Amino acid sequence: MSDNPSSHFERDQALGLDQAMRDMPREVRNILHPVKMGTTDRFCFRCHPEIDCFNACCSQIEIILTPYDILRLRRRLNLTAEAFLFEYATPYTLAKGQLPVPLMRMHEETGKCPFNTPEGCSVYSDRPVACRYYPIGLALMREENASATDEFFYLIKESFCHGHQESRSWTIGEWRADQGSDGYDARNQGWMELILKRRSAGDGVSTSVQMSEFFYMASTNPDAFRRFVFESSFLQRYTVDQETLTRLVEDDEAMIDFACDWLKTVLFGDRKIPLQPQALAELAQRKAAGTPRT
Ligand code: SF4
Ligand code: SF4
Repeated sequence: MSDNPSSHFERDQALGLDQAMRDMPREVRNILHPVKMGTTDRFCFRCHPEIDCFNACCSQIEIILTPYDILRLRRRLNLTAEAFLFEYATPYTLAKGQLPVPLMRMHEETGKCPFNTPEGCSVYSDRPVACRYYPIGLALMREENASATDEFFYLIKESFCHGHQESRSWTIGEWRADQGSDGYDARNQGWMELILKRRSAGDGVSTSVQMSEFFYMASTNPDAFRRFVFESSFLQRYTVDQETLTRLVEDDEAMIDFACDWLKTVLFGDRKIPLQPQALAELAQRKAAGTPRT
């Protein structure tokens, strides 16, 4: 199920748990078990339809939808990205990093997740990764200019959730495997790295409106990014090998990875997608003239 992994997601990505907890309002701090956990650490938990709190965690929540969450949900619902976003998402700008991400739109009056039913989650096998993690939170930490990301976990204990009183014991690793979180994390890796890099660059670095729009497009709509690659002057500016191009024509997962690589190139100079020689020469000229642009 889900609740606070998603609402804490933003805060915890670039901060250690201690720092993140100090910054949190008291009512949020009180539900976190402030102990760093690794994949072999254990906790007791069980969620099942007979439990008296069944469905209590599926309303009044903020769920950030990752690119792979959206792909899985819209395939399940047989919707285009545009139709899915219109119906189920609201853009939200991350406080640090200024990047826009889609939030699941809750029912306006009841505050319930649109997929919540009396019988449980109607999209269970395609539910978002935040729902898969709950009651575990994932914290990702990246120091400025560091190449590696530090990852750890923590327990979320909310008074309404009685699953913690059950005796079933799990390691974090067993829980992630059981809930299918691992596959989602692997698929969302490029997107997560982008957010972490942007946040670790600090508040002094601004993200242009245009780059924010490209980031949102990469996060939500591989079809739109595909049109940008194939129907603009993109391929005159960037070198992309034929094998990659062939894959990008139909493979949405590959398109999301490619879009993230391009954003790393233009936002952080990672050169994941190399410029064509002529575009490189133009860039060098602009740099010499004092107007650098990638
Ligand atoms: S046990 Fe926790 S996760 Fe399961 S339904 Fe109850 S509140 Fe939700
Ligand atoms: S997607 Fe499913 S598990 Fe997640 S909040 Fe909605 S109903 Fe609950």
